[in-house]
Amino acid sequence: MSVKKLIRHACQTLAGGVLAFTIAIPQAAANDNPHGAYKPGHFPKLEEIHTPKNVKHPSNGKRVLGPGHPKYTMNVTYNSKNHTISGHMTVAFNNNLHKNLNRLYFNLWGNASVFEENGGGMTVSHVKINGKKAAYIVNDTKLKISGLSLKANKKVTVGMDFNVSLPHQQDRFGWNKTTVSLGNWFPILGVYDEEGWNLDPYYAYGESFYSLTGDFDVTLTTDKDQVIAASGTEVGKAKIMSSQAVHHYKAHNVRDFAMEMDPTYHVKSTTVNKTKINVYYTDEQAKYADAMLESGHDSIALFSKKFGKYPWPELDVVSMEGWFGGMEYPQLVMISLPGERSQNWVKSVTAHEIGHQWFYGIIGDNEYDEPWLDESFADFSAALYDGELNQLTTPAPQQDYFHLSSPVSTFTAHADEGGINAYYNTIYGYGSRTVNDLRLKLGDQQFYKSMQTYFKKKKFGVSTTADFIKIMEDTSGKDLSAFFKNHRVFVSDQQ
Ligand SMILES: [Zn+2]
Repeated sequence: MSVKKLIRHACQTLAGGVLAFTIAIPQAAANDNPHGAYKPGHFPKLEEIHTPKNVKHPSNGKRVLGPGHPKYTMNVTYNSKNHTISGHMTVAFNNNLHKNLNRLYFNLWGNASVFEENGGGMTVSHVKINGKKAAYIVNDTKLKISGLSLKANKKVTVGMDFNVSLPHQQDRFGWNKTTVSLGNWFPILGVYDEEGWNLDPYYAYGESFYSLTGDFDVTLTTDKDQVIAASGTEVGKAKIMSSQAVHHYKAHNVRDFAMEMDPTYHVKSTTVNKTKINVYYTDEQAKYADAMLESGHDSIALFSKKFGKYPWPELDVVSMEGWFGGMEYPQLVMISLPGERSQNWVKSVTAHEIGHQWFYGIIGDNEYDEPWLDESFADFSAALYDGELNQLTTPAPQQDYFHLSSPVSTFTAHADEGGINAYYNTIYGYGSRTVNDLRLKLGDQQFYKSMQTYFKKKKFGVSTTADFIKIMEDTSGKDLSAFFKNHRVFVSDQQ
C-alpha cells in the first residue's frame, strides 16, 4: 500500500492538506464521502500480541510453510443492485506439513470492523472437507474448520459457499459511485508456519495479509456492461446471457486474486517484455491514463532488469477512489485518484505498487510480522524509478520500541503515542533509506547482483528478515551485522 508520498513528497497529500502521512488522510477521504466515513479498525491490546518471528536465524530453506500451493476454483456472481458477491469455492492442496492436521483456518478479511461499520461482511455455509460436512465457526476475520484428520502428504479439498456484502467505502474492498473494488474479498487459506497458524487482525493502515502462492480459476457472472480488471488472464471471451456476462479468469503462482470493475471504464494497453499492461480509467481519470501506462511500462522494464524478470503475462493498473495512494495485488494494482494529482505523483505511486509485484507478489512475506520486507523495498523501487534515491534520508525512529523489523502490532500498541505515524516513518521512510544505504555500502553492481540472487532464491516463496540478511551477506562475502545493527533492524541488537 502507499499513503503517498510519505517522505519524499510530503507536501503532495491526498486531499491537498498539510499533513503528509497521518490519520488526517482517512479523515479527508471521509469528508468527501459521508456514506463511507472512515474509521480505524480494531487495534489489538498488548496482551494479544504474539512473539514475532523476526528472529536472527535464517531459515536455510528448512522452513515448513503450508498448506502448499493451494488451487482455488470459484464460481461467483456479483449483484450490482445490492452490492453482494456470492457463490461456491473449492480449495485443493496437499498437506505438505509432515503431520496430521486436525483443523484449518481461512481469513475472512471482509469481516473486519472497519468494513462492518459501512455494511460490509462475509458469511460461509455448506463447508465440506473431501466431500464430507465439516464443523466450522466464524470469529471476526477467522474461519476455523475443526474436527479434521488430514493425513500428511494427502490431498485435501475444501468446499464452501460464501456470501460477501461490500461496504459503501472508498477502500481496497468496497464500492464507491460506479466503481467496485474487490481486494481481499473471498475466504483465503491461512498459513501454517513455525509459529502455528497465522491469524493476525486486519490492519487498515497497512497490510496483515500472508498467503502462499497457488493457482486460481475464477468464473464471474455479472452485468454485461461491467468492464472488469482481474488478477490473472481472462480465458476466451465473456459469454453473454441476456443482461449478464460470464467471465473466466486463470492465474498461476499468485498469492491472492483481486478484481476491480466499473461500467464506465476505458482501457489503454501496451506491452513490455511480453507482458501486457492494461490501464483502466473513467472519463474523470482519463488525464492520468498516459502517466499510469508510462510508469507501468517503465517500472516493469526497470525492475525486471534490476531485480529479476516479471513472471506473469499481464498486469492491470486500475484507477479508483480510495483514501490512500495505491494498493497492490498480484497482477493488479489500484491507483487512488479521487481528486487532483500531479502527473509525477501518479507515476511514482504506480511505480511503488508495481514494486510490490516483486516485494510481496513474487518474494512473499508475512506483511503483519515483517511489513518492512515489502513496503521498504516498494518505496525504494519507486525512488529508483523517480531517480530520487539520494532523497532517501529519513532518520531512524526515536523511540526504542520501534525498529525496522517491528511487527504491525508494535505500532498499533503505541497508537496513542503516534504509532501510526511511526509505522509510516519507520517502515516506508527509514526502511527505504536503509535499503538505499545498503546499496551505497555494497556498490550498485554488487547490490543488484545480490538482489537478483534474493529474487531467484525466494521467487514465489516467503522471505524473512533473517533470510534477506543471510543472502546479502553470502552473495557479497561481507559481514553486515554492524550495518543492520546500526540500522535498528532487530530489537535484540538495540540493548
Ligand atoms: Zn506499499
